[in-house]
Parts: sequence; structure tokens; C-alpha cells
Amino acid sequence: MSKAIVSSLYDSDVFRMACRQFDKAADAINLPDAIRDRTKYPKRCLAVALPIKRADGSVTVFEGYRVQHNLSTGPSKGGIRFHQNVTIGEVAALAMWMSWKCSLVGLPYGGAKGGVIVDPNQLTPTELESLSRRYMQEMVNFVGPHTDVPAPDVGTNEKIMGWMMDTYSNHVGHVEPAVVTGKPIALGGSQGRKEATGAGVAYLAKKYLEDLRIPVAEATAVVQGFGNVGSESALALAGYGMKVIAISDYTGGIYNPKGIDLPKAQTYVQYQRVLRDFDGGEPISNADLLELNCTVLVPAALERVITDQNAGRLKCRVLAEGANGPTTNAADKIIEERGDIEVIPDVLCNSGGVIVSYFEWLQNLSSFYWDRDEVMRKLFGILDKAKDSVEYQKRKFKFSRRLAALTLGIQRVADAKECRGLFP
Ligand code: GLU
Repeated sequence: MSKAIVSSLYDSDVFRMACRQFDKAADAINLPDAIRDRTKYPKRCLAVALPIKRADGSVTVFEGYRVQHNLSTGPSKGGIRFHQNVTIGEVAALAMWMSWKCSLVGLPYGGAKGGVIVDPNQLTPTELESLSRRYMQEMVNFVGPHTDVPAPDVGTNEKIMGWMMDTYSNHVGHVEPAVVTGKPIALGGSQGRKEATGAGVAYLAKKYLEDLRIPVAEATAVVQGFGNVGSESALALAGYGMKVIAISDYTGGIYNPKGIDLPKAQTYVQYQRVLRDFDGGEPISNADLLELNCTVLVPAALERVITDQNAGRLKCRVLAEGANGPTTNAADKIIEERGDIEVIPDVLCNSGGVIVSYFEWLQNLSSFYWDRDEVMRKLFGILDKAKDSVEYQKRKFKFSRRLAALTLGIQRVADAKECRGLFP
């Protein structure tokens, strides 16, 4: 009999959601008690105070975290989020999902996530650089190419990864590109990493439409979120011939049944930072956008946007989860009962990002670089294999697609822990 003696450190809606998903999956595969709690709870975390000098000469202290959920299957892997609503519970849930994601697609990684409570839009470029460097400085003994490898997430980007790589390299005294992924190409970033998550989302959406015998050219798509994942997903979906009829960011959305001019929207955001007042269609709220009639709906922003309040009103055929944890467990149940929506669960759908991060890490460790075609071919090969294994698991046990994906991911982590044994 196993007993978990756990504190309330991570307790939050989103951590409880991740735990309930785990419990359901562990029950479904009869995961023995002795291995259950070992597999479920995060291994360790670090919380740091990050003082930075502001442009006006004052000092502000920000709080940052890194949660390493599992290190049994390789270095832990996962992004760093800069967002004003970050909590350690959220970071822990995201770390847990990274474990299942890496394991599901067969990467030799555990799961981790980092976060800083900050609205990066409120910082000057110099302040953002100070904060990024200070975060890495505080993490120097906690991360590393063979310990824990960070990457971008919401509110962070290539530039920030470059500063972090530089800070770490300065500390250890030699260039160490493999300490973070999602870097600029000039610092050892991989071809295709920037577009990898969105390219994977669109590729899988297209594959599922083919399974459903829906012609891609007749499909419409709605994308929530216009950061890296949302904008790249929208572009890639359009690249396959789908009509993207609505996009949004946190300032609101744009709806145009004739199709959004995506390159124009991207250029607009490059200069204006947000989509607000973009004139390529009618304004629409984020809430209404999710309920638009469309073939593919891609939530590509934050967690828990599809809830028991709107799940019954979704009008999509395929729900492609670009974000991590966009669908609450209650919403999941409603969608399952409806039975008319194919869910591509987050751990499968958005895994393209971490897959190409793995390629970047391999290229850094071997100092041998691949061209874009090779990266994309290998990416789609891994996604095909992961999709096939999820479909097989789904059919074999009559699971929902999410349960199929989670049970595969969880089982592999549990197996690794079992084989490693328990240190006396
Ligand atoms: N933050 C991304 C995710 O949630 C990418 C992580 C990585 O590349 O390590 O999957």
C-alpha cells in the first residue's frame, strides 16, 4: 500500500486538474499503488527572488520558479513562462504534462517547467534582459544540458533563450548551447524550431481531417492566441489550404468568414504588439470566438479556456489543443458525451515544439547541424508514430483519445521508475 504525504505547495485548480487526469489514467491502466505516487508528484522545485534594476533607477524583485517533475527518463525538459498570473501550482501542472508529453512521443526526457510572475509587456527591453539573465543565474546549479533543459513558453522567445544561454555559458566558462533550446539560429538554434509547435498542430489537424474524410480545402479554422504557437498554427493550417476565419490574442479577436489575411496580421502584430484594432475583419470576443462554427478549433493560449460553461456550445469538428491544458476535466466529460468532436489532446497535439527542441539539443551536443527539410521530415515521422500509437491504444481499450495519450505517457514513466528500482 502506498501513502503520499504531500503538502499543499502546488495546490491550485490547474494542479488538481492535472492530478485528476493522472488518477483517471492510473486507474485505467491499473498502475500499482507502489509506483503511483512516485510517478505522480513533482520531484523537486526551486523558487527564487529576482531583483532587477528598473529604467527609472528603482529596484523590483520578481518571483520565479522551476519545477522538475520527473528525472527518471533523462534530463527534464520544458519551457519557461513569463506571465503575470504564474503560480507554482500552475508551473507544477505544466511540468507534469511535459513528463507525459515527452514520454508519449518517445523523447529521452523527463518533464519540467519554469515561470516568472511578470507581465513582460510592462518591461523595457533592458529590464527584460536583466530579468532573463537573473533567472538563469539563479538556476545555474539547478539546470544543465544533462540535468534540465529549459525552452520558450508563453511570454518568452528566442531572444530570451539566447540571453539565458549566454549567462549559463559565462558561468561555466565555455559555450554550452545545449543548456536551453529554442535559441536563435546564430547561437545553435535548430532550423524549424520556431515554427515547430504550430507546424505539428496543423500537421495533426490535417491528418485527423483525412481520417474523417473531410477535404482540407473545404475546412475552416479558428485559432485562439496569436503568440508563437497560435500564429504559426494559423499559418501552417492556411498553408494546407484551410480557411482561417478567426484569430485572437488577449486583447480580443478578429472574425472574417472570407478568411483572415495572416501575413498582414503578423506584420501588424510585429509593429503594434497586439491584434487590437487590426482591421482585417469584425471584432469578436475570445469567448464568442471559441463558439464559432468551424471545422478545426485551435486553442493556443492559456489553460482552462474550454469549461463546462462553453463545452456544450462548441461548433467545431476537431479540437486541436495547441495550448497546454486548455480543456478542463468537466468540459472533457461534456465533449466525450457529445461524441461529435475529435479531440487531439495537448500532449500529442503540441508536442512538435519539444520534439524539435530535442533535435536542437542533439545538434548542439554533436555540433552537427541539420537542414530544415531533415528537421521537418523527422518531426512529422515522430508525430505519425505517436498518433498511430494513440489510435491503437484508444481502439484497444476503448479509451477517449486523451486517456489513450495520457496512459501511454504515464505508463512509460512508471515503467522506467519500476526498472530503476527504489533507492534504499
Ligand atoms: N513550452 C513548450 C511546451 O509546452 C516547449 C518545451 C520545450 O521545447 O522544451 O511543450
